[in-house]
Amino acid sequence: MSNRPVMLITGGSRGIGAATAIKAAQAGYDLVVNYAGNAEAAGAVVAACEAAGAKAVAVQADVADQTGNEAVFAAADAAFDRLDVVVTNAGRTGLASTLAEADPEDIAKTVTLNVTGALLTAREGARRMMKSRGGSGGHIINLSSAAVWIGSPNEFVWYATSKGAIDVMTLGLSKELAGEGIHVNAVAPGLIDTDIHASAGKPDRVEKMSGLIPMGRGGSAEEVADTILYLVSDQASYVTGTVLKVAGGR
Ligand code: NAP
Repeated sequence: MSNRPVMLITGGSRGIGAATAIKAAQAGYDLVVNYAGNAEAAGAVVAACEAAGAKAVAVQADVADQTGNEAVFAAADAAFDRLDVVVTNAGRTGLASTLAEADPEDIAKTVTLNVTGALLTAREGARRMMKSRGGSGGHIINLSSAAVWIGSPNEFVWYATSKGAIDVMTLGLSKELAGEGIHVNAVAPGLIDTDIHASAGKPDRVEKMSGLIPMGRGGSAEEVADTILYLVSDQASYVTGTVLKVAGGR
């Protein structure tokens, strides 16, 4: 087995996933960087990981469904002889609006990626890392959100709903996999400065809402990445089933 641990990140081409990939490479991990369509961004992340001494592969696939997840994990199996950390990071909000005004297809697409996609990614990770299946244990990190305790009224209640499901998944799966040597935790970012807000139709959302944050500013993708790296470190050896807020006091 290779010496370097391997981390697989869905949605690793931009934002929190990209920052996590690069920081993980600097911390000694090899990387599987999944992306949906932005090959240029994924290539830049792979190059940054390689510059930090890691082996890294980019894999294009829509992880909202099983076919896409199988493609990502097949690429991981082909590139590496081990798997240590799976980050179910790929997510979307859909266009911001009230529920009454929201497009039903946008709602379904968001819930499918954020909930079904994350479950399917975690399932593939569990099947490879479970000790009873020949794995060596490891970590699953899910991306929750501050939306869970706010509810995101007038913006994306369906997104908040999907992230509530992530907290439940984290709780249940942590108990299911504790005896298999797999830690399951989540991070719940607050307002983090990434492209997700522009994709929701609100490019200046972080700046406009910073007055609502006790620390007075939005967070960076790197600050969330640092928290993910803490959760998969030896310093968090007795932590499982928890959702760690990274939200500046919000
Ligand atoms: P982002 O900047 O919009 O990046 C999204 C990433 O996901 C990109 O790498 C994108 O790939 C990928 N992606 C999107 N749909 C995909 C699909 N169907 N299959 C595979 N990959 C897909 O997002 P972010 O802000 O970093 O958010 C990452 C996670 O943190 C999400 O789960 C989000 O809900 C959560 N979160 C974010 C915030 C925040 O304020 N930013 C707060 C709380 C929680 P391409 O580059 O190829 O498009």
